[in-house]
Amino acid sequence: MRIEVLGVEFDAVTMAEAVERGMSMLQTEKPDYVVTPNPEVVMTCRQDPEAARAVREASMVLPDGIGIIYGAKILGRPLPERVPGADFALHMFGKMAETGRSVYLLGAKTGIAELAGQKLSERFPGLRIAGTGDGYFKEDGPVIDRINSAAPDLLLVCLGAPKQEKWMMENRDKLNVRLMAGLGGSLDVYAGVVERAPECWQRMNLEWLYRLKKEPRRIGRMMRLPQFLLCVTGQRLRGK
Ligand code: UDP
Repeated sequence: MRIEVLGVEFDAVTMAEAVERGMSMLQTEKPDYVVTPNPEVVMTCRQDPEAARAVREASMVLPDGIGIIYGAKILGRPLPERVPGADFALHMFGKMAETGRSVYLLGAKTGIAELAGQKLSERFPGLRIAGTGDGYFKEDGPVIDRINSAAPDLLLVCLGAPKQEKWMMENRDKLNVRLMAGLGGSLDVYAGVVERAPECWQRMNLEWLYRLKKEPRRIGRMMRLPQFLLCVTGQRLRGK
């Protein structure tokens, strides 16, 4: 079942269900892709039809960010829980390690994907790092060739939104991968260069506030959250 929040349809799944679906997508030849929009991305999709299409065509749309959960609740069609992209991938890695599956890490500044790969292989023995590449390339062709020769099961595309969503949509038919996931700044987190909020902040749904405290320049982007909630309230009042 999909639940619509301001024009973006989210899959109503728990983390466990999302991982189960993700693992079954690794069994099929068709290159699926997963997106994890937060309120900022939903607002972007309202102004950028290409971004909206890239999100709509994804095989799985996961609610990243507590704002989406509140939005769905305000609209009277609640989503089961928050499924942050960075955590979704960690759960996938745990399962993939059991069967020696492989992941390719694409994105972030020079050296970050490599560092993330080292840390992930220490944390998940059995998980194969098929390759890594930074996210500041000019041409897609050579990047696609490198990914295809590595032929990973899963490709993480961490180029920021909505660039990563568009990139996955445009290139899915050229890529020899089973599944892709667009995961924003996750490689920075796995590499340890950006810290996730401590558990207690996460439990209180204040991860966004912690991030703002660490990176105050995000204030402009975060102002889209109140705008998002206003639009959701408007949609509710119009009875849609
Ligand atoms: N990035 C990239 N190529 C680009 C633009 C951005 O690889 O052309 C990377 C950037 O280095 C960062 C990630 O994409 O690692 C975006 O992180 P951000 O925190 O903006 O994403 P969020 O997690 O908020 O979606």
